[in-house]
Amino acid sequence: MRETNFLVENNARHLWHPMAHPAEMRANPPKIVNAAAGVEITDLQGKTVLDAVGGLWNVNLGYSCEPVKAAIRDQLDQLPYYSTFRGTTNSPLIELSYELAEWFREDGLTRAFFTSGGSDSVETCLRLARQYHKINGQPERTKFIALKKGYHGTHFGGASVNGNANFRRNYEPLLPGVTHLASPYLYRNPFGTEDPAVLASLIARQFEDEIAFQGADTIAALIMEPVLGAGGVIVPHETFMPLMRDICDRHGILLIADEVITAFGRTGAWTGSRLWGVKPDFMSTAKAITNGYFPFGAVMIADRIAEAFEANKNSYGAIGHGYTYSGHPVGAAAALATLKETRRADVATNAAARGAELMAGLEGLKAKHEIIGDVRGKGLMCALELVADRKTKASAAKDVVATIYEGTYEAGVMVRTSGANIILSPPLVITTKDVERIVAALDAGL
Ligand code: PLP
Repeated sequence: MRETNFLVENNARHLWHPMAHPAEMRANPPKIVNAAAGVEITDLQGKTVLDAVGGLWNVNLGYSCEPVKAAIRDQLDQLPYYSTFRGTTNSPLIELSYELAEWFREDGLTRAFFTSGGSDSVETCLRLARQYHKINGQPERTKFIALKKGYHGTHFGGASVNGNANFRRNYEPLLPGVTHLASPYLYRNPFGTEDPAVLASLIARQFEDEIAFQGADTIAALIMEPVLGAGGVIVPHETFMPLMRDICDRHGILLIADEVITAFGRTGAWTGSRLWGVKPDFMSTAKAITNGYFPFGAVMIADRIAEAFEANKNSYGAIGHGYTYSGHPVGAAAALATLKETRRADVATNAAARGAELMAGLEGLKAKHEIIGDVRGKGLMCALELVADRKTKASAAKDVVATIYEGTYEAGVMVRTSGANIILSPPLVITTKDVERIVAALDAGL
């Protein structure tokens, strides 16, 4: 391998990173991650730290999941690629579809459409939602409603429903006909309430008002994350998603659950929708479906929607959508092995138990460190929000957040920062000792 200076210099010269300013790379070079095992990563300097980011919310089973690695190697030998456009399919993909139908049967989602990642999955949901209404004789239902602080990837459709200006402003104009409701973000909400159930009902009323204003017959779907991830781990009240589902039902609006982070156990339930007792019409998944080892995603489709497509006899029925890598056989083999391991290790149960320990540890840090304004989490998706002043809730300065990030890394744990939030999404297989290590390193960093 080349020496460090060569790598840092050429990273700055030839490589643009997602979600980063290209001019910052020399002054603030990223850590070069060189190896990983168990729940730890090792950088080029040989420093090994616990990865409390879990890759990017996706390496749920850690870095040493041999059955998934073996499945990828074996599938590369057997059939490294073939298309699934009309005319051809492959056996690991059929087996995966069968397994996913079993996995999601109790949610009424037994048809899958495959993608290469989360943004593709979201785009697929948005497009199929519009198509469903055309099939159903309501072609004027084209608009989408979303939540402020929601994150739905970076394709033009996904960016249009994104609820954070950072992901929108430089790329506008985006899709017309998208409206954003208030976020269920209790710590900073526009209504001044401190009661999460009241906040849920106020946003539900906003949704009803918006439907009355725009006309239900113009709205295709509501898209929402069951627990908002990239927006800062925003956990709504348990009544929120059921309320939104009920309003959708009363107005013929489809519900797209964006579960790119929450599917497969992260919240302590197998899906975020199941956590809140809701059955969505479309569910976008990706990330942990292959434990992060292969870019892959699946959109799960509700039976009643799928049956309308399957029964359709007019020109609207065919799916004019898909990707070269939809149903990649290596991704399918990786997903099959991942699902098997995910079930065997019962990671949802561990996420709930370790998540409770982690939240207790974070509350302890809040009692000790004035800079922590808010602690949020569900299962193993948690956040600390840092403030300069608890009374005014003014956000902590960027350099302060950066110093805490570096200090925590020095103390042996990788975390992620997003604005003034420290985000934690470790592998779901972590132990109590790992939780203690995360809290101790954060304590040192803070
Ligand atoms: N939707 C949600 C809820 C996400 O968290 C993400 C990524 O973090 C995406 C969509 C986009 O996924 P990807 O980055 O794989 O395109």
